[in-house]
Amino acid sequence: MTLRRRLAGDHGAGGTLALMVAAGTLAFSLLALSLFSVLPAKARANAAADSAAIAAAESASVRSADESCAVAAEAATLNKTTLLSCDVVGGEATVTVGQEILATTFSVAARAAVPRPAAQVSGVNGAIPLEDLVVISYPGVRADPPVYLRSDAASALLQMLDSYHSQTGDYLPVDEGYRDLAGQQRVFNEYGWPRAAIPGTSNHGLAIAIDFVNPPVVRGASPHAWLVDNAAQFGFEPLTDPDEPWHWDYAG
Ligand SMILES: [Zn+2]
Repeated sequence: MTLRRRLAGDHGAGGTLALMVAAGTLAFSLLALSLFSVLPAKARANAAADSAAIAAAESASVRSADESCAVAAEAATLNKTTLLSCDVVGGEATVTVGQEILATTFSVAARAAVPRPAAQVSGVNGAIPLEDLVVISYPGVRADPPVYLRSDAASALLQMLDSYHSQTGDYLPVDEGYRDLAGQQRVFNEYGWPRAAIPGTSNHGLAIAIDFVNPPVVRGASPHAWLVDNAAQFGFEPLTDPDEPWHWDYAG
């Protein structure tokens, strides 16, 4: 299964944010087709399926499932494919589109989900259900245990990580995001105030703070200099009191 992200300039927690498209199975019979004709068609069908799934998922927040599938059908048609199936449950849409080439029809399935906007995150500082948060899956980001963030902060962080990688060829190492009350208590016991926030007051507990690995994200090092120059455009602010070059807060 391929994990795709659509990050086209969407900031914030609006309904237009489709963070992840899990595009999946490609099931088709291609024996009769030449490689030349298949590859562009496959790419087009993948794009059409993604487009239809995203359209349906975005629509689902304000329209019924049937209406959302009608939107998906329209997106499929615009991409010169046919919507074969559409299933909308909650904010998640799963679609299959078909494309006919040289008398052979093949289909591509895609799924898109619109993360819940921040306003719907329940729980209090340090007690947010993990299912309300988004796991950050990206090279350089700690995978075990995973880094969780609020959906709008997650989207902004992924855009920032992408930007850093495209400009430098390197990856920013992320060590921590959401921290529950028990985790904050451990940090507080170890470092004390003000180095560690009082449990229940940390932005880590709101799932809008990240800690990069320290070093290399330290003052005077190039990753930190890049963040100083660029993080603001993605909505991230440095923590300066106390001065923690590795800690950045998402301010939107
Ligand atoms: Zn921190």
